[in-house]
Amino acid sequence: MKLAVIEGDGIGREVVPAAVEVLDVFGLEFEKVPLELGYARWERTGTAMSDEDIETIKGCDAVLFGAITTVPDPNYKSVLLTIRKELDLYANVRPVKPLPGIMGVTGRNDFDFVIVRENTEGLYSGIEEIGQDLSWTKRVVTRKGSERIAEYACKLAKQRKNKLTIVHKSNVLKSDKLFLDVCRQVASAHGVEYSDMLVDSMAYSLMMHPERYDVVVTTNLFGDILSDMCAALVGSLGLVPSANIGENYAFFEPVHGSAPDIAGKGISNPLAAILCVKMLLEWMGKVKEASLIDGAISHVLENKLITPDLGGTVSTAEVGHAVAEYVKNALKT
Ligand code: NAD
Repeated sequence: MKLAVIEGDGIGREVVPAAVEVLDVFGLEFEKVPLELGYARWERTGTAMSDEDIETIKGCDAVLFGAITTVPDPNYKSVLLTIRKELDLYANVRPVKPLPGIMGVTGRNDFDFVIVRENTEGLYSGIEEIGQDLSWTKRVVTRKGSERIAEYACKLAKQRKNKLTIVHKSNVLKSDKLFLDVCRQVASAHGVEYSDMLVDSMAYSLMMHPERYDVVVTTNLFGDILSDMCAALVGSLGLVPSANIGENYAFFEPVHGSAPDIAGKGISNPLAAILCVKMLLEWMGKVKEASLIDGAISHVLENKLITPDLGGTVSTAEVGHAVAEYVKNALKT
């Protein structure tokens, strides 16, 4: 199994090494392929990612990614969007689940849902024109794109509570009518219980009643925004992982960005990146190993081995070591 390891910029360079330390403890057969992509590379060379890098990534099975600082060049082509497109990573999966002892902004921990976001089209189609007086971006919704994300969400719902919420804005955006209709058809065909919500009502409802939801399926931009908002339910952006899944590849990344405000201080929370390792293990079918990471994270949280975003004083590297040590000991027993 070949794993591309892309730390990226800012805190990506802190959280990914912590996550890799945890992954290494399992002693699995991985060939790690480190790649330097992003803003620092662009500053040095004028290129954030080359065609060769894409080919190298395509030669791997999966990617563990940190975060990239957006390059301040109007002609910059997003590294992340390019990789998602090139590898056809159509499903962006973001679990929103409280961690032991950590309360988010709402002070509740009775929820456990997953946001499944269409990852290749919508407003991130990349079809746009920037002008002095007029700029536009084309919002693309296709039957094929909607069908496959709905299929993914329904299969996930069937492994969970068989409940799907379709989030859209079809009262205003006509393109969302197709998304909504297709999701309804796919859910009916799978026998999944479904309902739908307008995205603005959904934002409110997720804050007020997060316990009502199980699997939420939505279009690209709505999923991006809702999932960052839901990080506040969990307690920190540093706690929310995500997976980008396609037919042939998978790409794991924390939801957070490169956090330039804290980068280099060694205080970023590595748990989102470590939870990405858990998602990677699950994707590989290593369910037992993945569950050890849950135990290790409960252990560090219970013992207040936490970074400043959670009110602690422990460093990124120390949290990583503590998780790795716990897993190492658990593997011996
Ligand atoms: P951000 O997620 O980097 O940071 C938002 C806030 O959350 C900051 O205050 C930061 O300190 C805090 N935070 C984020 N992750 C944390 C962690 N692990 N531990 C503790 N605190 C954490 O968002 P931003 O500031 O809007 O973006 C910074 C840069 O990252 C921008 O260039 C943006 O375009 C880029 N970005 C990249 C990705 C990605 O590569 N996947 C995602 C989002 C933003």
